[in-house]
Amino acid sequence: MKESCPIREGAGRHPEALALTFAGWSWTYAELDGGVGRWVAALRSRGVGPGDRVVVLSTNHAALVHLFLALGRLGAVMAPLNARLTPSELRPLAEEVAPRLTLALTPLRSHLPGAEPLESFADAVHEASSECPPLETEAPRVILFTSGTTGRPKGAVLTEGNFRASARCSEANLGAHPAPRWLGTLPLFHVGGLAMLTRTAYDGGCLVLRERFDADDTNRALDAEGVTHASFVATTLERVLDSRRDRPVPPTFRCALIGGGPVPAPLLARAKAAGIVSLQTYGLTETCSQAATEHPGEADGHTAGRALPGLEVRVVGPSGEPLEVGREGDIEVRGPTVMAGYLNRPEATREVLRDGWLRTKDLGRLDERGRLTVLARRTDLILRGGENVYPAEVEKVLADHPAVREVAVVGLPDAHWGEVPVAFVVMREGALSQELFGEWCRERLARFKLPSRFLEIEALPRNAMGKVERTVLRQRARDA
Ligand code: AMP
Ligand code: MG
Ligand code: MG
Repeated sequence: MKESCPIREGAGRHPEALALTFAGWSWTYAELDGGVGRWVAALRSRGVGPGDRVVVLSTNHAALVHLFLALGRLGAVMAPLNARLTPSELRPLAEEVAPRLTLALTPLRSHLPGAEPLESFADAVHEASSECPPLETEAPRVILFTSGTTGRPKGAVLTEGNFRASARCSEANLGAHPAPRWLGTLPLFHVGGLAMLTRTAYDGGCLVLRERFDADDTNRALDAEGVTHASFVATTLERVLDSRRDRPVPPTFRCALIGGGPVPAPLLARAKAAGIVSLQTYGLTETCSQAATEHPGEADGHTAGRALPGLEVRVVGPSGEPLEVGREGDIEVRGPTVMAGYLNRPEATREVLRDGWLRTKDLGRLDERGRLTVLARRTDLILRGGENVYPAEVEKVLADHPAVREVAVVGLPDAHWGEVPVAFVVMREGALSQELFGEWCRERLARFKLPSRFLEIEALPRNAMGKVERTVLRQRARDA
């Protein structure tokens, strides 16, 4: 199947509408179309054509948006690498991609041998290429290396069709908006950032792109730049509310997607009072972002909502059999947003993709209305003497304690029980007390779920995606 070229179409239909803003600059659809045309010419002059791969190392930048759109017109593939990785982590990933061209933002060039400067790549070209053929939906579009808590990172291959479907399915759930404006604080080297770009660019909206997340800056964008949608995790949402001192957001703001886990009830209430409708969402790199998301009309933050319209989510048992409502098992996703496979890894691909179903390696359950609760990644599950302990459940109880700012629970090897839960706590104020936290948990949790120890920590270790690095905590627990 082929789909028309989105920015060119937008430039025809609403040339003066804003498509992108970044660092005080802005581009209308007509301007972006012309700019992308120059990038196409520059890339073509370097021999980049259909199926070729381009590795890029960059934090959020307007040049990265141009590169992504230009590669689409050429039928070429973008492999954005995580800007926080070290040179020794980057090298094998770049080698695996085997790129035709490597680009990096100037401050990052030394991290990737042979990288040419990204921000000035198309500067010398003044003649824009007008070529804009229909895009092949089955063709690879992006290679994204998954954070992978174990083993070598795998490159998920996402197609043009995956991004189109992701935008369509998301809109079907959130409802159409005449001129959506997404605040782009998630990195474009992550599926969350890229899906935000395609959602806006392909729908005639505007991406309000930021180099990074900052709470004060987010509030300026919400108050003064007509932002309609944003994505947060619970902790960044909290920082946004703290920094605006709960002052309500303007009515232009429609909703926030909250990824990575449940939204604590008190935080949800604060967000609601400030006019921020918060929808929990569940997604993976391999599903091109959202797989399930709460519906704006019925969000309570307790579940990750239903499968997006057009996608299927099921929970299966040990032999792959679909389980009844309420039973806990492995989450699987099927539909047009599911990746084509992993780069150069047929074995790993066969292991996770069967009959179109993606095995997510997350555990969860569905309720009678089809809403998904995500319990844990299979590898984070704590097995204490034959009982399953889901870190999120224990974390939720501790997070409700007024002295606790943040908490993460991990398993510690134990001679008697196999594993026991240990809690790492970031205190809001005061000193940590084993007795008080022990009592708080005993009143609210079954005995087998009680943390054997509470360890104070200044801040939770997080990766570039803001995800808690549980392997680091497990090591710290062993060393404590
Ligand atoms: P990634 O593929 O790196 O974007 O990470 C996807 C993983 O994030 C999933 O496999 C889940 O383990 C986790 N995740 C995403 N959304 C949620 C959610 N709403 N609740 C719990 N875990 C989530
Ligand atoms: Mg993953
Ligand atoms: Mg994700």
